[in-house]
Amino acid sequence: MVTIRLHNSKTRKKEDFAPIDPENVRMYVCGPTVYDRAHLGNARPVVVFDVLFRLLRHVYGADHVTYVRNFTDVDDKINARAREMQAAGDARDLNTIIRALTDETIDWFHQDMDALGAARPTREPRATEYIGQMIAMIGTLIDRGCAYVEQGHVLFDVHSYREYGALSGRSLEDMIAGARVETAPYKRDPMDFVLWKPSSGDEPGWPSPWGRGRPGWHIECSAMADELLGAEFDIHGGGLDLQFPHHENEIAQSCCAHPDAGFARYWMHNEMVQVEGKKMSKSLGNFFTVRDLLEQGWPGEVIRFVMLSTHYRKPMDWTEEKAKQAEIILRKWFDHLKNSHLDLSVDSLTRYTMEPCVVPDQMIIRALADDLNTAAAISRLHELAKRNDYESINAFLGSMVLLGLIGPKTEIDLLSLSGVGWLGTYDPQLEKKVVRLLFDRQDARKRKDFSRADEIRDALLSAGIVIEDRPDGPEWHVGPNFDPAKLEGLE
Ligand SMILES: [Zn+2]
Repeated sequence: MVTIRLHNSKTRKKEDFAPIDPENVRMYVCGPTVYDRAHLGNARPVVVFDVLFRLLRHVYGADHVTYVRNFTDVDDKINARAREMQAAGDARDLNTIIRALTDETIDWFHQDMDALGAARPTREPRATEYIGQMIAMIGTLIDRGCAYVEQGHVLFDVHSYREYGALSGRSLEDMIAGARVETAPYKRDPMDFVLWKPSSGDEPGWPSPWGRGRPGWHIECSAMADELLGAEFDIHGGGLDLQFPHHENEIAQSCCAHPDAGFARYWMHNEMVQVEGKKMSKSLGNFFTVRDLLEQGWPGEVIRFVMLSTHYRKPMDWTEEKAKQAEIILRKWFDHLKNSHLDLSVDSLTRYTMEPCVVPDQMIIRALADDLNTAAAISRLHELAKRNDYESINAFLGSMVLLGLIGPKTEIDLLSLSGVGWLGTYDPQLEKKVVRLLFDRQDARKRKDFSRADEIRDALLSAGIVIEDRPDGPEWHVGPNFDPAKLEGLE
């Protein structure tokens, strides 16, 4: 079995990864707060830890890895967005708006991350479904003298945990000097953080021993990880921006609630995202959601490829040039696969993803096992793509599957007919329509209904679709005079 080595933020070293229980390798990654579309920065940890999830499944077996990523669906930012909607005329009550808003955002998140080829985690808990566990954990922390009640709030006493700050290597004094800490009359120390806060009026709230209220953000992850993975588990991941204070606070809560367990053994943090060399920000006009990029016509695989080209512990710079290059490479690679006569049907790709029946290249496994060296894995894919022997092509496909660059959602079924058509024009509905028409045309020909076959061909040609008939079926692409309106009405 290959030894995985991971950079552990806790020790600041690359270490051999040894799971607590190889039969059940457990990983927790902080998920999104759901009130808005995921931006490029939200997508990076999803893609990074998806690669780790896939690697762990490959090494330990698909049924021996539990990956939990939460949805934070109770948060003041969500409340604020729902209030804005009310102010803009939404007549529903606050809690109804919040439910609809969080449900819709979770759907969007799934669509966008599916498009990036990210496999769904084993469990995706919503914070509001674990309020009971949060209240229980807060009760334990109070009983152990690590938390106190003040003016309807429950606060964690950071002085009760000697190791506080160890993950990010800060002392309490540094933190107070450097951080924007919120002072409040109910806090004994400005660094103390909220475990529970009162809810007033129509705000979301749950009954608790400290009155009707809602949890603080940090306790959500501690309680969900504890419930779904246990007091001690293998890997905890997230963006570097969460290391302090969120992850410090998770550690303090979980270790004080379970003094005999160590919470997560390996902490992993991905670096941030930039756009064209600059920090992504709304004011600079370079702020992209994943949906924006998909709508600009970048296929999810291209976005994923750009992300994987940079090691996860380095800042990832999204540039249009890189995306264009990635698209050219992927086109070439998909053509290579298509010409290989391997079975690329959706069913087969699903099977490849679930079971290791196409075996990835060993050098790629070793690159990923070396602290997820995805850039080295991609270099190796370039080498494999030049070879035409059966072993190499199989290893190439297996590696593409492992890296999530091809999968059942790649719509590769279209590729078997189109080759070049789909990548440049990302409109799945349109693609499906064109492919269905081409199938109908072939079908009509088989039935010797040539007038129907010609009708379809003429319609496609007049819409600017270029068709080339080849022995193994028609290939098509979108020509320069493309006019999708001409396809309307043709069934
Ligand atoms: Zn978290």
